[in-house]
Amino acid sequence: MIANYGYMDGSGEYYITIDTGKCTECGHHNCVEACPKGMFAIETDDYDDEVAVIREEFRKQIKYMCAECKPVSDRPPLPCVEACTSGAVTHSW
Ligand code: SF4
Ligand code: SF4
Repeated sequence: MIANYGYMDGSGEYYITIDTGKCTECGHHNCVEACPKGMFAIETDDYDDEVAVIREEFRKQIKYMCAECKPVSDRPPLPCVEACTSGAVTHSW
C-alpha cells in the first residue's frame, strides 16, 4: 500500500509517502532511529505485517518538523530516505 502522511496548504504540498509493501520485507526498520525528530514508528497493519508510519502527532506539522533536514541550499541526503535501503520513503517537497 502507498500511505501518504501530511497536508496541503497555501504554500504547497507536504507529504511523506511510505510504500508499506517494502516495509513488510524490511529486516531492520532503520527509519525509526534515523529520524532525529522521532517521527517514524512501526505498527502492525490489518494483515499482521509490520509497517512504518508517521506518528499521528507529527502529521499536521511535517513541514516544520522536517525543516532542519531541508536547508534551502545544499540540502544533504535526508536521514530517513538514506536509512531506508528499500527505497520506501519519499517526500513531496
Ligand atoms: S526502513 Fe524503510 S522499508 Fe524499513 S520499515 Fe522503515 S520505511 Fe519501511
Ligand atoms: S526529513 Fe528529517 S525530520 Fe523529516 S522525517 Fe526525514 S529524518 Fe525525520
